[in-house]
Amino acid sequence: MKYCPICDSYTEQFKYLNCEGFDDSYLYKDILIRKCRRCGHLFNELTDIEIKNLSKYYKYEYAPSNLSIKDTIGDRPGSDTPSNIKRYEQLYYFISTRITKDSKILDIGCAIGGFLNFLSKKGYKNLYGIEPIEAYVNKAKENKDLVIKKGSVYYNPFEDNSFDVVILDQVLEHLSNLKLAMKQIKRVLKKGGLCYIGVPDAERYNDNIYWYIMREHIQHFKDINLKLLAESNGFELINSNKTESKMIGTLNLPNLSVLLKVSGKVYCWGIGREFMYYYNNTRLWNLDLILVDDTPQKQKQTFKGMKIHSSDILKEADKDSFLIITTNPHRELLRIKAFKLGYKGEIIYV
Ligand SMILES: [Zn+2]
Repeated sequence: MKYCPICDSYTEQFKYLNCEGFDDSYLYKDILIRKCRRCGHLFNELTDIEIKNLSKYYKYEYAPSNLSIKDTIGDRPGSDTPSNIKRYEQLYYFISTRITKDSKILDIGCAIGGFLNFLSKKGYKNLYGIEPIEAYVNKAKENKDLVIKKGSVYYNPFEDNSFDVVILDQVLEHLSNLKLAMKQIKRVLKKGGLCYIGVPDAERYNDNIYWYIMREHIQHFKDINLKLLAESNGFELINSNKTESKMIGTLNLPNLSVLLKVSGKVYCWGIGREFMYYYNNTRLWNLDLILVDDTPQKQKQTFKGMKIHSSDILKEADKDSFLIITTNPHRELLRIKAFKLGYKGEIIYV
């Protein structure tokens, strides 16, 4: 995991923290934080074995320890402590104007169902949660108005295009494979659906070592990192804000919230040298593109792992989509051809 989990670029060592741990713990000991040379994102470098051991840590150490402490203190995941309620209120305030009582809402990593219970009390009816830790699932299921399933952001048991809103509150910083996570979130969202993400704001760590030695946090996001992650996975960032809520003792959680919307598909027509130039020198590299070119030879090749489709694919494009024509000499010809294929979206020339 030496490459940036957001933009795949080269990274360099940012911090090395020599930590100890309990002898029989599954949690990794030393912490190596890397920084992306391209986008600046910070993340912990973990081996595949360390990632596997993390899930054992959640199951055998993290969950039992969290479930054994009283509800009245701390930020026990998904519970009704005053600090969590304050965070739920902030989250609710942030999304409330964009949801209705009938919105179908999925809380991924819902823990013991705290935010879903909060919404349930407010009269929301279509509330769903998934959670990988079985002990949390059983606790969350105590509220019979919720539909709770065992699963994770990667192994999401729900159907394609089934939710209006997906919530990931203090979840994304725990994940190693961000691209797979965004792909799975997009899969279950309806067209135009919304995704809320709340994470600790790395911009406001203020050199507090606590945020780096909390080893279950393996991503350290700033708002620009979340924006890039969104845009490179077919979302647009429509709102963001920064709040604070109590965490443990005197420590405050610097919470960074973003609201993402599934964006229309972006097609690029004309995959030649002009396209290659624009791909590297504009923000094209950052978009989730569908490549189109009618040269049969090119359709046998791929670019950065992306397939090259014939223009027939434009027949299925809807009115929210964008078509970027990346060949200057043929732009009028391609525009007419797109029109004849029944293309209904917006056309952009480079
Ligand atoms: Zn990067």
